[in-house]
Amino acid sequence: MDCGSSGQAKNGVSAAVISVGDELMLGQTQDTNAKWLAGQFTLRGVLVREFRTVHDDLEAIESVLRELSARHDFLVMTGGLGPTDDDLTREALRRAMDVVEPLEVDAPALAALDMWFKDRGRPMTANNSLQALRPKGARCLENSLGTAPGLYAHIGRAHIWCLPGPPREMECMFETQVAPHLPHCVMATAAVHSFGQGESFLAQVLGQRMSRQSNPLIGTTASGSIVSARIRAVDAAANPQSMESVMQEIERLWAPYAFGRDQETLAGALGKLLVSRGERVSLAESCTGGLAGSFITAISGSSEWFSGAAVTYANGAKTDLLQVPNELLAAHGAVSAPVALAMARGCAALLKTQWSASITGIAGPGGGSETKPVGQVFIGICGPRFETVKKFHYPGDRASIRDRAAKSALALLRFALLGQEAFAAPMIWESK
Ligand code: AMP
Ligand code: MG
Repeated sequence: MDCGSSGQAKNGVSAAVISVGDELMLGQTQDTNAKWLAGQFTLRGVLVREFRTVHDDLEAIESVLRELSARHDFLVMTGGLGPTDDDLTREALRRAMDVVEPLEVDAPALAALDMWFKDRGRPMTANNSLQALRPKGARCLENSLGTAPGLYAHIGRAHIWCLPGPPREMECMFETQVAPHLPHCVMATAAVHSFGQGESFLAQVLGQRMSRQSNPLIGTTASGSIVSARIRAVDAAANPQSMESVMQEIERLWAPYAFGRDQETLAGALGKLLVSRGERVSLAESCTGGLAGSFITAISGSSEWFSGAAVTYANGAKTDLLQVPNELLAAHGAVSAPVALAMARGCAALLKTQWSASITGIAGPGGGSETKPVGQVFIGICGPRFETVKKFHYPGDRASIRDRAAKSALALLRFALLGQEAFAAPMIWESK
């Protein structure tokens, strides 16, 4: 099947994925099949518009097959093809196809099963031969990695593939026996990531560009305080420029918050800037306890631009390692702008780097007060002819306060490297 320039995917070729199994519904097994299959369909320009999970129940499986085959072109169902009483896919498919005859034996599938057991020197139990049954009008699909054959059938407009549940078997069968029958149109996907503003603000900046009728189509997602624009273009091969120009426009509109594309990270973006200038950075971390440093050291080769982090949690560590004056700590407390600045200065001197960022704050849940509430964090930045502190008030629990503070420090370093204008850009959790 070819979607070619007529762009079938644009006209709504759609797929659904059905996962069958009590173990999924009981929360015992994670449904990795659905995620994998959605990725495979997307690669081929077919949108998965529905996921369904059903337990091992004949009526439930039959009903979902009837319902989804009425509105999708492709259904892939995984699970329920084994030899035991709770494997009901074959019978449910027969009923959904309105086949009145009982399941019939597929001779080649039975011979393959026989061979599978002979090759391993094991007797085939009677229930194993049930796996070679299929509804009249359906076709058995060879499974080279296991005993359960798959099934192919169509109901109305829907092509239906039933594949075994074990991911290794399912993936192999999808690649060899399903993928060749899917349309050959290209769907390109890409992402632009940002940090420092909320999703609603950033979506508003994109305005009409997010119209659901657009191609490329833009949507936003937020995860771990990173807001991303996800872009997908159907028939991208016909217009490779459109994807690139859309990404560039988002980066322009989201400046300076947009820091990278696809697999790029905040720390990676900072590293790129430092490498281009031949400069290095160090960190003085209090409430984040090394988290910002761990974001940086997750990147292979970061020693090229990162010297180290001083985790100075207690006041004594701040004075001993970073030369923060005792008087400053006594006068303002560890969570204060002057101490943050002194930490950053001391760290740059200790680790001999052009740039340094410090993080000191109250991650909670204890330790807050009226003037220094939980979530209050000071981030100091110092660099060549550059010294500033910003104050933040982060919402959330201890883990998210620490995560946001660590990411903010990396983002502020990046802004500082980009220049005064970028550094002046307001951030969502900044407080006066
Ligand atoms: P079944 O084909 O229903 O006998 O499933 C056999 C095994 O495959 C299950 O016990 C699970 O370990 C695994 N499995 C089934 N469905 C899924 C799924 N949707 N995602 C991941 N693993 C699965
Ligand atoms: Mg099962």
